[in-house]
Amino acid sequence: RSTVVNAYRELEADGLIESHVGRGTMVNFIPGGEAGEELYLTLPPVWRNFYSSRAGRMNNPFISNILDMVAREDTISFALGVPAQEFHPVEYFSSIISGLMNKEGSALFEHGPTAGHYPLREYLAGYMAKRAIQAGPENIIILSGSQQGLDLAAKVFIEPGDAVVIEEHTYMGAIQVFAAAGARIFSVPMDEEGLQVDVLEQVLARYRPKFIYTQPTYQNPSGIAMSLARRRELLRLAYRFHVPVLEDDPYSELHYEGGFLPSLKSLDTSDHVIYLSTFSKVISPGLRLGWLAAPSDLARQLLMAKQLDDLHCNTLAQSVVNEFCRAGLLQAHLAMVREEYRKRRDAMLASLEEFAPPGLCWSRPAGGFHIWCSLPEGVHAGALLSRAVEKKVTFVPGDVFCANAGGTDRLRLSFSRCSETIIREGIRRFCTVLSKMINT
Ligand code: PMP
Repeated sequence: RSTVVNAYRELEADGLIESHVGRGTMVNFIPGGEAGEELYLTLPPVWRNFYSSRAGRMNNPFISNILDMVAREDTISFALGVPAQEFHPVEYFSSIISGLMNKEGSALFEHGPTAGHYPLREYLAGYMAKRAIQAGPENIIILSGSQQGLDLAAKVFIEPGDAVVIEEHTYMGAIQVFAAAGARIFSVPMDEEGLQVDVLEQVLARYRPKFIYTQPTYQNPSGIAMSLARRRELLRLAYRFHVPVLEDDPYSELHYEGGFLPSLKSLDTSDHVIYLSTFSKVISPGLRLGWLAAPSDLARQLLMAKQLDDLHCNTLAQSVVNEFCRAGLLQAHLAMVREEYRKRRDAMLASLEEFAPPGLCWSRPAGGFHIWCSLPEGVHAGALLSRAVEKKVTFVPGDVFCANAGGTDRLRLSFSRCSETIIREGIRRFCTVLSKMINT
């Protein structure tokens, strides 16, 4: 305290501040230099005093922390659910980029339409038509990742205090966007068939939400694929209560058993579904390219919101992805990665069989990147993570995926980024840490 008091005295002696009983201490103007201007004593602003109330709701650094964790090379990370670095199609991209440079040159560095590169939207319309989704290029907006679609939906639909419905555990990036918009978030429980529609019905009747956010296929974090009956029932409820559905579908191409599950959008007969997908899981996340398909009038409003966000997506990235897809390389790439990720999933399941202590339960996803675990009684996922990090293995604790309390006895293991050998070693380490925790 005396240091502070002395500092104040010194500033006062120099005429930089003036103290008034009852009013506090004020910073004085400083008479100017030779030019005779008035100068101010400049202290850096206390930034938080300037923040909006919205900024105050953006307070969860977990995604950035996970992205940072990738940098630690000695740690085996099951935390990040994105493609393996070795699968990025670098050689194809390299030849596509040089071909494009020769063909289009400086045009690749111009601004483009807010809705996105037209040939890519046209390709996506055809691609979705093969999955029975009716959407023309005018219904499609190319996004800076599907994360942007979540943000645009929040901006267009949510007023502080509005209700939105999510699944019991879901993508943390969606929860954060809806929370930042000031939504009241209602979680509906899930079982192995997906969202429990009987509970959904009660929530819709009671809270009349702005939308239902769902990932019906290989949900992040649980890997659950919603059954066809539930998909139909969800739509029936959406129609009955007039509630839009925000369908987030990043993983449906990454199926390891059987074929495609119909998206909600393909089953929607009454234009209630806004469809979101991305190239982040099927090609590479650093492209920052996703897309949405929405009924025309809503697409126009979402477009206005996107315009304020980033004007349009990166022109070069869109052209590269368009060439990649049109050359048939996406389909070939998908066939390769499906096979590789299936092996990685199986390696993780087999290693869990081999090393797991009693009481640990885990899911057996038919697609996607994630295995969802529930911990033996009394083990807290956050405490387990601290110990696991010391033993150089990481995962994401379950509470991160819950909007409200809960999930502390759950965790997500992502198998996409590690080779089968590394997966076995990582699961061995993970299970050793867990066994020690159970026995102490
Ligand atoms: N939705 C879900 C369910 C996700 O898992 C992710 C990525 N982790 C995203 C959206 C955002 O992905 P991107 O912005 O890279 O397309």
